[in-house]
Formats: sequence, C-alpha cells, structure tokens
Amino acid sequence: MTQPQPDFELRRSGGSFRDPAREEEFRRFELDAASPFLRKLLPLLGTLFAAFVVPDYWILGPGPSFFLTAVARGVSFGLLIFASSQMTPEKPRVRRERLLVGITLLGITSFGVALFTYRKANFHLQAVSVVLMIAAIYLIPNRFRVSLLLSLLLAGMGLAYLLLLAPPELLASERAAYIADFLLMALLSALLGRTFSATRRREYARTRELEWISRTDLLTKVGNRRDFEDRLESSLARRRRHGEETALLMLDIDKFKSVNDQFGHHVGDAVLREIAERLESSLRTEDSLARWGGEEFVLLLPRADLKSAEEFGGRIRSRISGTPFGCAGTITASIGITMLSETDTVESAVARVDRALYRAKDNGRDRIECEG
Ligand code: GH3
Ligand code: MG
Ligand code: MG
Repeated sequence: MTQPQPDFELRRSGGSFRDPAREEEFRRFELDAASPFLRKLLPLLGTLFAAFVVPDYWILGPGPSFFLTAVARGVSFGLLIFASSQMTPEKPRVRRERLLVGITLLGITSFGVALFTYRKANFHLQAVSVVLMIAAIYLIPNRFRVSLLLSLLLAGMGLAYLLLLAPPELLASERAAYIADFLLMALLSALLGRTFSATRRREYARTRELEWISRTDLLTKVGNRRDFEDRLESSLARRRRHGEETALLMLDIDKFKSVNDQFGHHVGDAVLREIAERLESSLRTEDSLARWGGEEFVLLLPRADLKSAEEFGGRIRSRISGTPFGCAGTITASIGITMLSETDTVESAVARVDRALYRAKDNGRDRIECEG
C-alpha cells in the first residue's frame, strides 16, 4: 500500500492540527487514552455526590427542599453512571466529549448552588475551592475553549460571591487579593492548558511520524519489510483461526542490474517507483503491497484462492511488460506464488514463495511459478 506521509502541521496557535482528519484522530486518541480512568472516576464521583444526601438531610431537615436536592443527586448519579458506560472507544467521540462537558457544567452548577446556599460556611475555604475548581476544569480532554469559558464562569462566580456574601470584616486589601487570585488562576490555568495541549499534539505528531518512517519504504512510499512481516503475521493468524485463504506473491524485476548499468541509478530508482505505482493500482483495498528489498516486492491477497492469485499475477506481469518504462524501455518481472497454510510461520511462507520465484527465474524469467 502506498502510505502518503500524514500532514501533522500544527496551526500557528498550536491549538489544533491543520488537517481536520489528523485533529480528529488525535482527539480520539486522547479521549481513548483517558477512557479507562474516566470509566472508574465517574461512578466514584457519582457515589460521592449521592452520599452528600446525608449532610443535606442534616442541614435541610425533612421537607420539600430536601426532597428536591435528593432527586437532583439521584439524577446526577444516574447521569454519571451512564457517562461512565459511554467512555469506550466504540462510542462516538463527540458524544463522549459532550457528556464530559455536561458533567463539568453540572459540577459547577452544584458548586455554585452550594456556594450561595451554605452561607455559614467558612469564606476562605470556599474561596480556595473556587481557585481549585478553576484549575480542575482543564482536566476535560480536548476542550480548551470550553474549559476557558468555564474557568472564566467560575472566576465570575467567585467574584459575585466575594461582592455579595463576603463577611463585612474582610479588609479591602484581602478582597483585592482574592480577586487577583481568581483572575490569576484563570489566566495561569488557561496558559498551562494551552501549552500542554500544544505539547501533547507535538509529541503525538512526532510519534506518528516516526511510526510512518519505520513502516514505509522511502523510495517507493509503499510499506517496507517490517510493515509487511506484521501484515503477514496477522494474515497467518486469520488463516489459522478462520481458515481464510490468502495468497502470498513475490515479484523480482528481471535483469534489473543492467538497467542501472546502462542508464544509471536514478533511472533505476524511477523504474522502482513506477513499478510500485503499477502494482499499487492493481490492488483491491484489502490487499497489501511492500518492497521486500532491492528490486523485490511482496503482495498479500486475502480471500483469494490459487486460481485468482495466478490470474492476478498474470495481470500485474502484463502491466509491467506491456508498457515501456520511458528511456529504460521494456522491463519484465518474475513472480512466485504460494498459498498460506495453517502450519506456516512468516519464515516458512517467505521461504516457499522465494523458491517459487527462483523457479520462475530458472525457467526463463518473465513468468509465474507456484509452490506448495
Ligand atoms: P535477475 O533477473 O536474476 O533478478 O537479475 P537482476 O539483475 O535483477 O538481479 P541482481 O540481484 O543481480 O541485481 C539486483 C540489482 O538491483 C542490483 C542493485 O544494483 C539493484 N538495486 C537494488 N536496490 C536498488 C535501488 O534502490 N535503486 C536502484 N537503482 N537499484 C537497486
Ligand atoms: Mg533480486
Ligand atoms: Mg532481479
């Protein structure tokens, strides 16, 4: 398979990838990585939140306000359990993100209600909680802008609390210090949140680029030997488990050394690229192609029997020999074919297809031979 190099350029702000497909892929990766943790955390939060029904009863006593809070706690518990069940990679990313934002909003609302209801609570403790909550907002994955808005909302709540409910004995300088703390915390968390999100994207991009390099043949841009061995390993597993018939082909360009000798290495390189393109355009989506090394290519055809593999081999052989390669003229290739067996290993399958290929060479080149 040709594997186009993915575009991992970040936007200038560093907040997202330029390519929407990469951005989507990264966001899903981030959310999937956080999911096992969220699946455990959310029920825990729900239980904790529900357990507050005891102090509620204590403070509010029996009556309609207690009944209402108890219902609100029950509903929130249900929501958190539901959200936890949604934190699996199969569920749509947007839904999972929205649920997390919804839960955060719920948390902020309950916090706000508590802030303005429990008037006898310790003012300084409440103010510290505002500061902590502003920082905690940035734990929602992928939602920098939402986090920014929510943290400003929290800072605003803190300010309102300060202006409306602060004890009269609070000094003007203390009041100013609290306001500065709320705003500084909102600013600092936003800056850190932004920096972390750009750093994580860069790290992700580097990892994916290295992964791409480690699996791609840089001359022809098809998969390399390592990539192919992994695919072959998976095909062998499917052969054993589900009996899936799979053909393995190996193709070697005939007398390629003389192309290099006559026209130079750069022409040889261009021929290799052109061969890869011709092979590539003959594949079905489920087939795999790789450069095994030098002027040898390998192909895997899942759900193909020997007859269709031979037909396919014939097609690619004539695609190569049928149209000249620019100044290098007509080029031919020899092909070996074998079917994967249940007892095969990567080595045994490759050894067999290699024998088939060398029989094709021995029998005069520009032909197909099957083995096993
Ligand atoms: P045969 O029909 O027996 O396969 O003959 P051949 O000349 O193709 O086989 P041989 O193994 O003797 O030579 C393979 C040549 O492929 C030698 C090497 O210079 C060339 N080759 C291998 N990798 C590259 C490459 O990346 N670029 C270029 N231009 N040539 C390469
Ligand atoms: Mg060779
Ligand atoms: Mg050759």
